[in-house]
Amino acid sequence: METTSRQFRQLSRHALEQATLQHSLDGVREIMPRIRAAALAERGDFDALCDRARDIRERTLRQLDSYLEAFERRVQAAGGTVHWAATGEEACRIVAQICRDAGAERLIKSKSMVTEEIELNAALERDGFTVTETDLGEYIIQLRGEKPSHILAPSLHVTLDEVAETFHQHHDIERSGPLTNATEMLAEARSIMRDKFLQADVGITGANFLVAETGAAVIVTNEGNADLTASLPDTHIVVTGIEKAVPTLDDVGVLLRVLARSAIGERLSNYTTFVHGPRRDGEASGPANYHVVLVDNGRSEMLGTEFQDMLRCIRCSACLNHCPVYTAIGGHAYGSVYSGPMGAVLTPAFAGLPAAAHLPNASTFCGRCEAVCPVRIPLPSLLRRWRQRELNARPVMDGQRFGLGLWRWLNHWPPAYSLAIRCAARVLRRLSVPGRGGQRWIRRLPLLGAAWTDCRDLPAPPGRTFQDEWRRRRS
Ligand code: SF4
Repeated sequence: METTSRQFRQLSRHALEQATLQHSLDGVREIMPRIRAAALAERGDFDALCDRARDIRERTLRQLDSYLEAFERRVQAAGGTVHWAATGEEACRIVAQICRDAGAERLIKSKSMVTEEIELNAALERDGFTVTETDLGEYIIQLRGEKPSHILAPSLHVTLDEVAETFHQHHDIERSGPLTNATEMLAEARSIMRDKFLQADVGITGANFLVAETGAAVIVTNEGNADLTASLPDTHIVVTGIEKAVPTLDDVGVLLRVLARSAIGERLSNYTTFVHGPRRDGEASGPANYHVVLVDNGRSEMLGTEFQDMLRCIRCSACLNHCPVYTAIGGHAYGSVYSGPMGAVLTPAFAGLPAAAHLPNASTFCGRCEAVCPVRIPLPSLLRRWRQRELNARPVMDGQRFGLGLWRWLNHWPPAYSLAIRCAARVLRRLSVPGRGGQRWIRRLPLLGAAWTDCRDLPAPPGRTFQDEWRRRRS
């Protein structure tokens, strides 16, 4: 579901008014930067590690086709099958066919943003399969019929009381009312999930990385649910984006170290699993059938363009956690599974610019996202490029033409420029009111400027222009 510009504004306003959501976002804003900073402080060479991570991702993207083919050969040699899906629909069809061929009815799934992106669950349910999410956050929002609001913590927007109520409504357990204790809720979800794991015919996971050197799909979780999803059912399907290829195991080592520190402020995530293929002769456990579905869905169109850098993303969520826009409105307003700065760059690439043109504009350009990105993606520059494209595609309105013409004329005639700026500074000064520490503020600008001061105050200019001050100092 994409949002229009109007819906984005409405959803943002709604999010700002939701006290419980704001409470959760306060936690993201305050806690996540702190734990990331502590994890980085522990490792003096984190900057150098990020440079290496960027170089690995860049090198991979330059020869993505050969790394993917090498990965495919290794998977085939291990007895697995690789499927190539040009679009999300094709990926869903492939997964459904594998499930039909396996005679499956019940599927379990671990969290994967690619499967959210291609809306795999909805497609499989339309085909008659029962799908259960096994990541606790994903399970909660699946029961509630919602989309993730954060790429790592999908149920960030749901309060504990709401979880209790959701479990009370959906779990077939007799009791007098909703649970009140988080540990009991966890135990209840775990006992329900255990049966799902044991009964499932097919397990679907994503993959954080695909190692070309060994054919391994690397799956990182904090709950261990992906390991059970991959190993208990008779068929395991990995669904992931083509950009996840990585040349060697050594390279994965670097990426895992920057991923965990940036995502959760830890040296490593709780579970890092390397899956190589189906169960081998003599092995007691593991799936008999192993498939990898490589999803393109717009990614190859970004290769070789000014947006290629975005394909370096390792979905750590640091840019969301440090973004003043995301931490004010949360993920749902973006109308895409990818939110925050990375979503504002990715969504126009996947959904097309007309549908998502407002997202690159939802940025203060403060630059924190770029500063914290462990693979050094220049997010503000990419957002600016989308804005440029949008501007070029849109007809210039008469008002804009007039305003820009006036600005050009003033810039060509210094006396007029100087007079206009001096008048504007004085008028703005007169509109201002005193605030703390001697600073004066403009609470409401007139005419078109009113939109700017609807949600914020504007610091008043001191009354003298830069040129006045320059002249005064020179004299
Ligand atoms: S853009 Fe960078 S910071 Fe944001 S999720 Fe991707 S890797 Fe992490």
